[in-house]
Amino acid sequence: RNRAARLNRQPQPPARPVLRFDELPEYQRVQLQRMAGDLTGVANPFYRSHDRAAGATTTMGGREFINFASYDYLATNTDPRTKERAKAAIDRFGISASASRLVAGERPVHTELEGELASVYGVDAAVCFVSGYLTNVAAISCLVGPQDLVVHDEFIHNSALAGIKQSGATRRLFRHNDIENLESVLRTLSADFRRIMVIVEGVYSMDGDIADLPALLELRSRYGFWLMVDEAHALGVLGARGRGTFEHFGLDARDVDIWMGTLSKTTSSCGGYIAGSQALVDILKAEAGGFVYSVGLAPVLAAAARSGLDILSSEPERTERLHRNGALFLECARAAGLDTGLSVGFSVVPVIVGDSLRAVQLSNDLLQEGINVLPIIHPAVPEGMARLRFFITCDHTEEQIRHSVEVTARKLKDLQDRNFGLASLDM
Ligand code: PMP
Repeated sequence: RNRAARLNRQPQPPARPVLRFDELPEYQRVQLQRMAGDLTGVANPFYRSHDRAAGATTTMGGREFINFASYDYLATNTDPRTKERAKAAIDRFGISASASRLVAGERPVHTELEGELASVYGVDAAVCFVSGYLTNVAAISCLVGPQDLVVHDEFIHNSALAGIKQSGATRRLFRHNDIENLESVLRTLSADFRRIMVIVEGVYSMDGDIADLPALLELRSRYGFWLMVDEAHALGVLGARGRGTFEHFGLDARDVDIWMGTLSKTTSSCGGYIAGSQALVDILKAEAGGFVYSVGLAPVLAAAARSGLDILSSEPERTERLHRNGALFLECARAAGLDTGLSVGFSVVPVIVGDSLRAVQLSNDLLQEGINVLPIIHPAVPEGMARLRFFITCDHTEEQIRHSVEVTARKLKDLQDRNFGLASLDM
């Protein structure tokens, strides 16, 4: 009653209505996209529902498809050994870690997985987070702040951008894979900041090309920045034993300060990791909000990821098959006149088709032909650079690859010939 009386005495601001979500410009954009789909009769290619685990093939609505929309690069998702170990972890630990590892404590599967990740890189230690996205946000925002500078390749993943934004650091980008451009940014700015971090990806997720690690390390030795490499699409993919970008270039992984990766792709689980020096890992485990204040990785997922790493180490022929498949896909696509952009043909091969609507239409046409591949459209890539993004796995057969490229080239030509009328609609 006292509070009500006090409030009555104070001048009241005019009542402000609660904003409705369906009146936001964000929602209008969603509706516009739906309308564009309805108008053109182009079905939404996203959120297709799969009846079973999707690898080199998948089943949707009872029909079998060749699948290029799964990150299961080494086909470990349905491996009987992975399933066994995941089931054993459920039997022993249940499903959840139930709270932060600081509070709820460790499970041996966590420390075993982190030990194995450290040994992949030959570094001191590793720490896991509950997703790759969170790993980038938590690690970057923990290590740099408002007095610091982060310089990144223009094509890095949204999660790293979110981490930089959260950190409050000054952000500068350099042109994709352009080391000279990076150096000119560093030359101008590096004296003004406390800490400098440079962020790149081992294999770029939209383009399938590789960071120039030797040149980056040479720059690091002169400018004294921390180098952070996101290996989401490189672990299991690059190098004869699938250890990633450092193995591809024959370099010592200890020269990179911060290795980041996800457990959701090659290791067919869920989660992310940072690997590096013991001091780096100790800092993150004590100070990174996304580790300290978030639940520990589910033991079942840690066990599954560990199994994926074991298969990666013990069966390098999977990585070898992936290399062959990526190279074959790229060779066939180029021979068919498709624009594969910058891809060097490992895990990711884009086929760039131009505007967003054409990419969506092509994806839907390929679905009719029994091929599942997803479009990447604006704003994920610049308008005019929309593409289909093919993820290659070690389990794709030569026949599946040749057939899929041939059908893609034919269907794209059909679309171009039809001179798709509503090509300029911005999706
Ligand atoms: N980094 C890169 C380069 C990625 O492509 C992704 C996911 N596609 C992530 C980080 C985030 O990983 P996750 O999906 O495991 O959260």
